[in-house]
Amino acid sequence: MKINICLLYGGKSAEHEVSLQTAKAVIKALDTNKFAIHPIFISNEGNWIKGPELLGPIENVKELEFRNEGEEVGPNALSTRLAPEQKGSYDVVFPLLHGPNGEDGTVQGMLELLNIPYVGNGVLASSAGMDKVIMKNLFAQAGLDQVKYESFIRSTWNSDPERAYDQVETEIGYPCFVKPANLGSSVGISKCENRKELAEAFVEAFKYDRKIIVEEGVTAREIEVGVLGNDFPECSVAGEIVPKKGFYDYEAKYSDGDTSLVIPADIPEEQYKEITRMAIKAFKALDCSGLARADFFVTKEGRIIINEVNTMPGFTPYSMFPLLWKHTGVEYSELIERLVQLALKRYEEKQ
Ligand code: ATP
Ligand code: MG
Ligand code: MG
Ligand code: MG
Repeated sequence: MKINICLLYGGKSAEHEVSLQTAKAVIKALDTNKFAIHPIFISNEGNWIKGPELLGPIENVKELEFRNEGEEVGPNALSTRLAPEQKGSYDVVFPLLHGPNGEDGTVQGMLELLNIPYVGNGVLASSAGMDKVIMKNLFAQAGLDQVKYESFIRSTWNSDPERAYDQVETEIGYPCFVKPANLGSSVGISKCENRKELAEAFVEAFKYDRKIIVEEGVTAREIEVGVLGNDFPECSVAGEIVPKKGFYDYEAKYSDGDTSLVIPADIPEEQYKEITRMAIKAFKALDCSGLARADFFVTKEGRIIINEVNTMPGFTPYSMFPLLWKHTGVEYSELIERLVQLALKRYEEKQ
């Protein structure tokens, strides 16, 4: 019997196009002798459109955008289609979505209510991992080394901006990084060297979120590691991001040639060990399952600082997470199968 896998991709998000690329690659990697592939495209406007079963790889991502010919389902209609008594239509859902409304627990909550197994992190880990302030509070409680940080809410900042800047200058200092609390792909993030830049950075970050985080800026190497598993997670080899200019911003992430990924990272064995220990601790602190990519800073002095965990890391075959696993000996298609098995296992264990 084939596994009926539903791919959820696109999405009303800054990462829509990336998600389409991921879907194309996942479809190509799935063995059609083992899987029946059911696509659901989420348009930029937020419409959910069910397409026909896919019988093999596609040439162009345009084939995945069922704008006119598809059957519109929308998340509400999904509840009848995917109701537990209709189980059999989909054995598992793979949400290939990043950022708010995909990686933040909302889609995961819907799938929980519908009683369908799904790939990746559950509601709690997804939402805690999406909010950088909550995430860092949990890391602090787990005793993980981090940079100094402070969080701000738009309404309190609005009522007295100068006070917020004073607080940053006393508690954090320069350089600092200002980020929307709930986002990814470096969207809305600025590095600040003085009060003028700080004020501009607050305005920018508050465009994306009602809550922001300000962090102490460090000069360090950026090392990332992949984590795979449920209750017994394992780590991949480590990788290093080497930006050619400035920090690893949105442009560097999505335009070729601005950054290079070095895998495996050239770090001492002792540092690798400590990084994997911290990555597993972070994974458990958020109660992650399935997968996560843990991002670290390593200073010249050898201090290892956790920056964040991403609960649905970039997943094209050229993204860090799949490349890390490839170098660890897990090819892309095997990685996908492992994730599906982990999803089914977690579902069974919850029953
Ligand atoms: P993604 O989810 O795509 O990894 P993100 O939007 O969650 O990104 P971060 O990873 O927190 O954002 O930050 C983006 C980049 O900004 C980092 O990869 C790093 O280059 C730089 N950066 C962020 N915070 C700091 C910091 N405290 N000190 C120095 N550099 C930083
Ligand atoms: Mg992130
Ligand atoms: Mg992200
Ligand atoms: Mg990051």
